[in-house]
Amino acid sequence: MLVVKSFKVGPLETNCYLIVDKKTQRAAIIDPGGISVELDKKIHSLGEKNVDYILMTHGHFDHIKKATRYKKLTGAKLMIGVNEAEFTKNRRLNLCRIPIEPFEADVLLNNGNIISLGETKIKVINTPGHTVGGVCFIAEDFLFSGDTIMRGTIGRYDLETGNLNQMRESIKKILDLSKNYIIYPGHGEPTTLQEEKICILKILKYSF
Ligand SMILES: [Zn+2]
Repeated sequence: MLVVKSFKVGPLETNCYLIVDKKTQRAAIIDPGGISVELDKKIHSLGEKNVDYILMTHGHFDHIKKATRYKKLTGAKLMIGVNEAEFTKNRRLNLCRIPIEPFEADVLLNNGNIISLGETKIKVINTPGHTVGGVCFIAEDFLFSGDTIMRGTIGRYDLETGNLNQMRESIKKILDLSKNYIIYPGHGEPTTLQEEKICILKILKYSF
């Protein structure tokens, strides 16, 4: 069983998540775009060395800015989509006004990769469109959607490497999943796949 806790970080109130495999207490951080005192406390009570991975849905600064800080704190491996590798090194791509110290991910993720977190399996799906190498993470009943799908809307596709056609395909890929996942987005409140199916189709009039 996977336990999910969310923390708002940074000026854009990015959702940073701590996910914990309940049985083994192995943990991962998703999108550490800023520091959260509450997150730090949770990590400390869990044990810093229990954090195995730092997963990044994509490389915008508000999702990666404190990745190296949390790596130093925990020793966790940094993971990002293979097509997003440049974002951690390139200010033009990660959109940070104050340069982030360039860094390399430890693991570059491919579509379909399965990451083992204790007894929980986390599946990687490529969802380009918001950025070229963005990914979503699926584990148990949860889908971590980054800036691809948010409650009642989709992410921007007009930023560097964004692409509307890819965005359409990625949204379709998510909405076509058979399970009614709880969606934990990069910003805003959680939602469900079923709600978004209705909402996104209605609001954006996508012709799927
Ligand atoms: Zn973004």
